[in-house]
Amino acid sequence: MTSAGTIEDAKGPAEQRLALRQMLGEDIVLSETEELLRFCRDWHGDVTSGTVAVIRPRSTQQVAAAVKACRELGLSIVPQGGNTGLVLGAIPDAPERQVVLSLSRMNRIRKIDPADFSAVVESGCILSELKDAIAKMGMFFPLALGAQGSCQIGGNVSTNAGGVNVLRYGMTRELVLGLEVVLPDGSILEGLSTLRKDNRGIDLKQLFIGAEGTLGIITAVSVKLTPYPDHVATALLGLASLEDAIKLYRRARRDCCDLMSAFEFMPPLAFTLAQEAMPDLPIPISAEYPAYVLMEISGSGLVDVDDLMQRFLEGVMEEGLVLDGTIAASQTQARNLWLIREGMNEGQAKRGTHMRTDISVPLSQLASFVEEAEKAVSEALPGAVSVSYGHVGDGNVHLNVLPPAGSTPEERIQLIYRAKTVVNEVLDRYTGSISAEHGIGRLKRPDFDARLPATRRKLLTALKHAVDPEMIMNPGCQLRF
Ligand SMILES: Cc1cc2nc3c(=O)[nH]c(=O)nc-3n(C[C@H](O)[C@H](O)[C@H](O)COP(=O)(O)OP(=O)(O)OC[C@H]3O[C@@H](n4cnc5c(N)ncnc54)[C@H](O)[C@@H]3O)c2cc1C
Repeated sequence: MTSAGTIEDAKGPAEQRLALRQMLGEDIVLSETEELLRFCRDWHGDVTSGTVAVIRPRSTQQVAAAVKACRELGLSIVPQGGNTGLVLGAIPDAPERQVVLSLSRMNRIRKIDPADFSAVVESGCILSELKDAIAKMGMFFPLALGAQGSCQIGGNVSTNAGGVNVLRYGMTRELVLGLEVVLPDGSILEGLSTLRKDNRGIDLKQLFIGAEGTLGIITAVSVKLTPYPDHVATALLGLASLEDAIKLYRRARRDCCDLMSAFEFMPPLAFTLAQEAMPDLPIPISAEYPAYVLMEISGSGLVDVDDLMQRFLEGVMEEGLVLDGTIAASQTQARNLWLIREGMNEGQAKRGTHMRTDISVPLSQLASFVEEAEKAVSEALPGAVSVSYGHVGDGNVHLNVLPPAGSTPEERIQLIYRAKTVVNEVLDRYTGSISAEHGIGRLKRPDFDARLPATRRKLLTALKHAVDPEMIMNPGCQLRF
């Protein structure tokens, strides 16, 4: 890593920490080792790192001051939101030269404007808290993901998060109207517009969406809102195959007038995994079908989504496309259906360290990709279990591989490496993406790097050098320049 600053290496981490406390204030800079470690562990607990200090500013001006102080001391900065990212983007990889800058204290909602269908919020606001505050005003912020009780809006923007509602509302990028960003030289890019249409030249906010903190620190975001969908119909359906699930998806988009807000694919193993995490979770459908879909239609105002779901399912069941199904009769039942989808993640975690992917291929090729990749895994790694599930409407599948029970930690590491190679070989034949929604971080950097076309690398390098010439922002994340 190349680091910024005029007095690099002149001071050790302890002295740098002290200097930061003197420059920024003791309240802003955490320094107790035990406290620091909390910010240096990834969400799964697989990796623990270290840091010189954790900086916790309360305002945009304090973020700017922190950036200037770090430059002066030759330290680089790893921004951190809720630390729910799954690719090691938010924890340092050079503990003696990097500080964590946590946005968690910058969590104010500056404005919710139902008349304008917009809100302005600081980056550290937890997603579920933002959604709840917006819902109280009859409005809706559609971003929805399993980590929403911990992840922050700034982290969501920095990873361009996806989630379960992408098929209707798009990725985070499509929900952002404006950004306020502290740049690597400490200056502030003020762009918290709530304009829907603004074609004054190149749209600079796009540079920071999905940049994973490599170009600056997002301190506030203005977002689009929609009317709250008070009517939601949720169904769990049993089908003969993933291919049928994709047919059903296409059909549902047309028949349900694009009111579908979620369409999640799960294998029968989902029920076992969810119950391993939540033994009392009711499973209201037989586990004998090869494929399952959790589908949601939602709307506001005069739309009758219950009737729509009922009539849609009658049609597709009559044709034999859907073999069995249950429609949630209450919010509790709907919540329980979602718990199956969410619980299967927890169930996989309970089976120990395993290979996780976040892949996308064109929707028309998803079924054959999954079949080919699972076959390749079972041939290369007998005894390993493939679990494919995800936001199928977006062509996004999480094809995970669980090592056989009783595998040692070393065996698990070897299997994960081998499984990733096998799956990526198939993926490359389909010209798919190794990261549909989680980003690159540090975990996927080698795979990203290995597949980066020369022209794209040239542009990315030029951009990084132009915006962050001293390489102060999240070095090691996405690429080593
Ligand atoms: C159970 C679970 C379910 C998940 N489901 C989904 C899903 O469905 N879809 C999906 O896309 N992701 C999902 N994720 C991944 C994760 O929640 C998202 O990537 C989320 O957007 C990360 O937000 P965060 O606040 O936790 O960011 P962090 O993990 O703290 O940071 C992520 C990256 O953004 C950078 N960053 C954070 N805040 C800022 C900022 N203010 N300015 C600049 N850079 C910043 C960090 O340096 C890091 O590179 C899931 C994770 C878990 C644990």
